[in-house]
Amino acid sequence: MCLNLVTFINGKLTFLCFFSPSLAPAHLSVGSCSLPHLCISIASAYHKKVKSTLIFGNLGLTICMLMLSLSAISNTAKADHTSNKQDIEIFETALENGLKIIVVPLKSNGVIRVGIIYDVGCADDPMCKIGISHFLEHMMFKGTKNISMKKLNYLTKKYNSYVNAGTGDDFTFYHYILNKKFLDVDLKIEADRMVNLELNESDIVSERNVVAEERNMRCDANPTERYICDALPKILYLHSNYSYIGIGYPHHIKAYSRLSLKKHYDRFYAPNNATVLIVGDITQEEAFKKVEKTFKYIKKTHEINRQRVLDPKDLNIKYTMDRASKQVTTRNLSIYYTFDRSNVDTLKKYYTAKIAIDSLCGTSRSVMAKKFIDRENKVYSIDGDIILNAFDKAFVCIQASLRENTKMLDMEADIDNVVKNSPITKENFEANKKRILNNIDIMKDNPTEMFDYVLQNKVLKYSTDDIKNVKNIINSITFEDVKKFEENIINERNKTHRVYSHPEGVTA
Ligand SMILES: [Zn+2]
Repeated sequence: MCLNLVTFINGKLTFLCFFSPSLAPAHLSVGSCSLPHLCISIASAYHKKVKSTLIFGNLGLTICMLMLSLSAISNTAKADHTSNKQDIEIFETALENGLKIIVVPLKSNGVIRVGIIYDVGCADDPMCKIGISHFLEHMMFKGTKNISMKKLNYLTKKYNSYVNAGTGDDFTFYHYILNKKFLDVDLKIEADRMVNLELNESDIVSERNVVAEERNMRCDANPTERYICDALPKILYLHSNYSYIGIGYPHHIKAYSRLSLKKHYDRFYAPNNATVLIVGDITQEEAFKKVEKTFKYIKKTHEINRQRVLDPKDLNIKYTMDRASKQVTTRNLSIYYTFDRSNVDTLKKYYTAKIAIDSLCGTSRSVMAKKFIDRENKVYSIDGDIILNAFDKAFVCIQASLRENTKMLDMEADIDNVVKNSPITKENFEANKKRILNNIDIMKDNPTEMFDYVLQNKVLKYSTDDIKNVKNIINSITFEDVKKFEENIINERNKTHRVYSHPEGVTA
């Protein structure tokens, strides 16, 4: 079992794996722009060729029991999806019990990536039970009334080439990469554990130790991680549900009881709070039929309200953090500009922001990279990104790694000066727009990247129509839109946080 950090970096869902680097993507990086999310991964399994009948040989009894135990009346999926030609073909429907189904057919030689996403994450944890969403994610691998933990482990490894799960601030998901002929196995596992989870006292007690150890390794034993886990969210957010670390603190982890876990599970694990996402070599008809057949028996529950404490707006407070650490070898400067999330509440606005940030500081050809790396030799690297979640405010983050002879405050003043002059040119704009469009074309052949793209944008509450029409949307963004974002958002007034990070014993 491997413990991961899951986050969105540069628009990509990224696993930061501590024990199994082979599972982590090549571009992985941890910086001050990354916010903490948590996930658990179960070991990567290798696909073995077996006859499809063997699946039912293995699952036969348990699946029959499962179907008998689900007492809900079968309802037919509403075939209300559209099939108009879009930039990306995405088909969406919902069962009568509220389960949403999204299918993205791709030509991928039989490979599909499937996942179930629940609208619950660390920011939904009750204040007295911080970390419970993540703990529940661990418990989902402990078996159900129908499938023992051992059997669950065996089945997931046997029929999938990759199995993982993650808990973010706003979502929890369980996902697989497999040959499509084994899709039924994963769907049955997910349908079963949506309603039949066993929460044994002995498993809870042993898992407390596992999660406490995860917390220790991830946060307490490593000053760099501790900064990302605990300190950074506390200065970026004030009272918000995003201001605490989703793994919880040791005294929280000890406090999870069977009753509190059951309450959390019963509240959020329901078809009307979940989406099945299937990407790859499968038609929408086949995928809808399989999901409907497996999930239609599960009853819809009460309406689920997600409660959030949101930070007040426009406090006009500036925060400075001076972080000294033995594990930091370079001096790094991070600057955050806070803005209202309504400025990025559509995919068009999101990509407008992305083009602006990439043009200013987010690529190797950005205005700041050319000036501070190529011409003035003041920094080793400079980067920028947008930080946002499903609710609450958003940030633009600029981060620079300084050369030895560059003073921290001088660099900050240099960045302030660049920002003041709103330097993005039409050439920057055109180049970054083209690059983002090219990246979308590349992603269209890759089930893994496409899955992440749809997942991220659904979690951030962007509409499926926008997700389908992303290239048209990006093409409609004008230079004036980008300049407006640059001038209205990335400015001195919105500059709210600065973090000086440097080796212990060295002045910032
Ligand atoms: Zn974990």
